[in-house]
Amino acid sequence: MAKDMGCVCMNKESNHNNNKRNSSISLMRTYIRTLALLLLFIVVFINYKQLIQFYSAFSLANAMTQIEIEHLSSKGLLLDLGYFLGIVFLLHACWAAVITVSCRSWFLLSDNDNVKTQCWLILLLLHYIFILSANAYFYPTSLLGIFRGTPLANGVFIGILGTLLITNFIFAMVQALLPRKRLFIASALVMTLLTPVVIYNVLRTTEQTLATSSDKPNIIIIGIDGLRPDHLAHKGADNKLAPNINKLLSQSLIYDRTYTPQGRTYVAWMGILTGQYPITNGARFNLAPPELVDLRLPLITALKAQGYQATYAMDERRFNQIDESYGFDKAIGPKIGAADAIIASFADLPLINLWVNTPASHWLFPYLYINRAYGKTYNPHLFNQEVLNGLAVDKPNFLAVHFCQLHWPFTSKDFIELDKSRWDGNYNHYMYQEMIKKVDRQVDEFMKGLQGRGQLNNAQVYLLSDHGEGFMLAKDRLTLDKLHSSQTEDSDNRLNVAAWGHGTNNLAQEQSEVLLASIRYKQGKPVNQAGVVKGLFSLIDVAPSIFEMQDFKLEPQDNPFDGRPLKALDTNTGGEEYVFVESSLPVNAINASFIDDKKVMSETASHYEIRDNGRIVMKPAAYQANIRLKQRSVYYQDWQLTLLPKDNNIILVNTREKSWQSLANYQGDAPWRKMLNSMCKHYEKDLDSMSEYNASNCNF
Ligand SMILES: [Zn+2]
Repeated sequence: MAKDMGCVCMNKESNHNNNKRNSSISLMRTYIRTLALLLLFIVVFINYKQLIQFYSAFSLANAMTQIEIEHLSSKGLLLDLGYFLGIVFLLHACWAAVITVSCRSWFLLSDNDNVKTQCWLILLLLHYIFILSANAYFYPTSLLGIFRGTPLANGVFIGILGTLLITNFIFAMVQALLPRKRLFIASALVMTLLTPVVIYNVLRTTEQTLATSSDKPNIIIIGIDGLRPDHLAHKGADNKLAPNINKLLSQSLIYDRTYTPQGRTYVAWMGILTGQYPITNGARFNLAPPELVDLRLPLITALKAQGYQATYAMDERRFNQIDESYGFDKAIGPKIGAADAIIASFADLPLINLWVNTPASHWLFPYLYINRAYGKTYNPHLFNQEVLNGLAVDKPNFLAVHFCQLHWPFTSKDFIELDKSRWDGNYNHYMYQEMIKKVDRQVDEFMKGLQGRGQLNNAQVYLLSDHGEGFMLAKDRLTLDKLHSSQTEDSDNRLNVAAWGHGTNNLAQEQSEVLLASIRYKQGKPVNQAGVVKGLFSLIDVAPSIFEMQDFKLEPQDNPFDGRPLKALDTNTGGEEYVFVESSLPVNAINASFIDDKKVMSETASHYEIRDNGRIVMKPAAYQANIRLKQRSVYYQDWQLTLLPKDNNIILVNTREKSWQSLANYQGDAPWRKMLNSMCKHYEKDLDSMSEYNASNCNF
């Protein structure tokens, strides 16, 4: 009897062991099956996105950054792409582990493999529904927001399902670990240690540290990409488009008729920071090879010597690579590199989207975090917080921050409602106006953040845009001045006076005219005179103004400023200022309303290379050659004179009348000789890289 009992016991024991072994094998198999399915879903999703997208992800990436297959040999680019793929795999591997552990407690209820498989399938499905629902709820413009508009993309449903799945997981974890005391205590310890880290990270975004008062003013330059002054109330636009910016401007000194040195973000910002024209500082195109640009910024050197913290912040760095190598203490924004465009075009997967706006994303997805170019998840509030949190509280700040929501392709995290009363058939212009409302709210929140942190207790703020934007609007179009010219309509049609985008055509006035305003704050309130300063100004006037205000002096080795300090209201500028504007590449396709990627590729692909650090730059040889293709303009009083690279005609524009004529047929009394002389003198250094037409027009 005793023997029998022992036998039964042994049988029971070995049965139990068998079960245990079965269940452990089955869990491993479950994990592999889960991971394989999750990875398969990625492939299916990518193909699905390709199907519903007019342009494939890769061709769009190509079009935006002119990447060729040969570029894929760049070590930096491969490392960045490898890191991204590794993180995507890791996140899915962790998710598969969560699903597998969650299955364990259900598997213990039955020995039947069919039941187990059914349990697994149901759990997998519930997890997937949860991820897809949350993605559709938080990021409705995601291409995989397939539950959008269904009860599944409802906050209550997602909350309940999420709670159930988390409870299931925690229960299964405790159940698995409880019998193994040491493991359980170790896990509990890790969790306890991790909790404060998580809480700190969550709270970090809401913390508000008050700045200590300094006798040196904070100097803050706020740039809004592509903001056209004629879309603001002081130029007669509907106040509803940008109520907060308009309110800010009503308290500012606005410098009327300010031009960008070139309608491109990086070149414009280099002009702002150096106080020099592109021909002086060498930054003549976006993505300029660093060795051809004078990277020393005397403004930053002088401010740092006075104890300032210098910060450069930008939420889209594809075309603007200003960072710490320009002397800044801090650069805030997504990582810079060719991988940006490729990763952003592949990234739209539910699990990635749900991680992008968490603090960990800073390390997990450095190319997607606070990246406005990945518009599907971009959160303006998060970028604001990141910049505000980066400001020094124990010393004065110099901050240059640039908001890019207004940049092409005018998309956002949320869908834009169509207001039929304002629809004029111009999709880009409609979306642009909708995005103005969004950037207006972002700037307002940012200003309130500065105020709340005491950063406006003593501050000089400049509000500006880096360029305008061409939408081929009827009201922007220059007309041929027949009164002062013998020209016919035929040649009117031949001359391209309008263009899409920015930096593409100097004759499209709306591309180069920008906003420039300044406000002096004391104790959080504006204390300056408000009004419109008449005259001609350039973005390059900002740096000399800061030098004058701070009583800084240039060092002997520094090039002098091209810009002039901005004047107070009622100062008579004499009207003798000349302001120069040069175009970027005359590429029409890249800023066209619908990108023709093949056209862009054939026009510009060979101009770029990817360096070992993974960054795209223009090839030095192409850089020199492209300078030949520039349009060059000078503004003087109500006139603009433009040299075209492939045309012997010099174009004279009356900016007040919005009319143009060719100088060859011109019979009026515009001061064009003075203008031509000053322009030729300004671009004298370009002689070797100027077209023969331009050189002969200048009598070089
Ligand atoms: Zn820009």
